Amino acid sequence: MTRARLVAILFAALTGAQGPSYDLLLRNGRIVDGAGNPGYQADVAIRGDAIVRIAQSIPERARRVLDVRGQVVAPGFIDIHSHAGAIFDVPTADNYIRQGVTTLITGPDGGSPVRLAPFLAKLDAVPKSINIGTFIGHGSIRSAVVGQVDRKPTASELNRMRTLVEQGMRDGALGLSSGLFYVPGSFASTDEVTELARVAGRFGGIYISHMRDEASRIVESVNETIAIGEAGSVPAQVTHHKVIGPGNWGKSIDTLRLIDEARRRGVDVSIDQYPYTASSTTIQAALFPAWAQEGGRTRMLTRLEDPVTRARIRTESADIIRESRGGGDPTKVVIAGCNWDTSLAGKNLAEVTRLRGMEPTLENAAEAAIWIVERGNCAGIFHAIGEEDVERILQHPATMIASDGEIPIFGKASPHPRSYGTFARVLAVYVRERNLITLEDAVRKMTSFPAQRLHLLDRGVLEPGLKADLAVFDPVHVRDAATFERPHQYADGFSYVIVNGQLVFEGGAMTSARPGKVVYGPAFTRVPAAK
Ligand SMILES: [Zn+2]
Repeated sequence: MTRARLVAILFAALTGAQGPSYDLLLRNGRIVDGAGNPGYQADVAIRGDAIVRIAQSIPERARRVLDVRGQVVAPGFIDIHSHAGAIFDVPTADNYIRQGVTTLITGPDGGSPVRLAPFLAKLDAVPKSINIGTFIGHGSIRSAVVGQVDRKPTASELNRMRTLVEQGMRDGALGLSSGLFYVPGSFASTDEVTELARVAGRFGGIYISHMRDEASRIVESVNETIAIGEAGSVPAQVTHHKVIGPGNWGKSIDTLRLIDEARRRGVDVSIDQYPYTASSTTIQAALFPAWAQEGGRTRMLTRLEDPVTRARIRTESADIIRESRGGGDPTKVVIAGCNWDTSLAGKNLAEVTRLRGMEPTLENAAEAAIWIVERGNCAGIFHAIGEEDVERILQHPATMIASDGEIPIFGKASPHPRSYGTFARVLAVYVRERNLITLEDAVRKMTSFPAQRLHLLDRGVLEPGLKADLAVFDPVHVRDAATFERPHQYADGFSYVIVNGQLVFEGGAMTSARPGKVVYGPAFTRVPAAK
């Protein structure tokens, strides 16, 4: 080596001038910062896993420069309600990444592993494209301690449940989720849930609830959610807020008024929502009364063998089809998927009823639903939500966007399109086409708002020092492509998605990078790994 070369290397080492200043530089994008501020044109520089600079013009060199003129640069979206258990099968979570989602929160509706530490360790160990965190589920804890039965917990059982919530929070949960609509959450009293939500609140978590009823008793259910937050001193969230059943449409006027009143008196209550007029859960959960499911599957099947009890279940199920989830018509109930007969996916309940040799009356459709449940249950899609309620809820300032979706196996079954389209659909339909909310507000509902709610203080806003989770999209062409008929279609319009400083999506394809991290709740204390 020549002396001059050596001097040059030493000089470079001392001044740091030997290499590019940044790892990644996004030039000329329209910054929509997530906080709700008006967009503006600027460059964003990333080093390692962090945003290090945002300025009108960043002239320094970078290892990689992307010209994103004409595109929006936003924080990566945070989905506060997802069913992401399939992350172990599809660790790229393509359906989410391709619509700009960089963080998934799972464990919703009261369902999670009871012991989170091993689950989170396993999540941590799997190389993945996306960040992920979890709630601790009330229903799972109740099931483990009390069982699937309709009774109050004893004092010692309640204590045990408290301890499990506390352990979940220390293990890293972001809060307590409940599914009071589902067995066994449906058997829990308001007081029981309040006691457990209080524990989550004490450890900095939130209480997020799939409420007891989203149809005729929706107003009472919102009241209950507010009461739990208020009495338990814990931030509360009405998750996937919707009004089910044509006879109930319009009740969001009342539910939002209740939420406004609660917020005015200092109760910290918020909402999340997906932008569709159909919901999705299992046929059994949606169309069976809770009492019929009490005690678990064997007891339910025994009830169905008794003709009188079966008739009672059929009548109540027909009422549910008429007045709530069924939207008044068996064609509005569509099979999303069944493990035991993949050919049923995409068929509606009227068609299934005909296949069973019956005219699709409400009673016969209920009998077909019973047949489905006896065979092993199916996932269903239920077209029974009014668009006016969707729009009204979306426009509320306390509403954030969440998919309630899953990580599907691409091409398999006929899942709700929300898994592929939620975030893109809000940007396309409700921002661009209908002008119901501004782009800046929509992005806030997808980023800083859920981040604040979850105490994820290092994400959700474009700001130097924060983690470099970014979604870059064309605001003119962004759109959801997934439909109920053809759900397996990725969203359009996203050019780059960055997770912890690394590109996970570019040029229309997932990259090989797996920078996703587990995100932990505020009470998490990392236990030093054993040597
Ligand atoms: Zn739910």
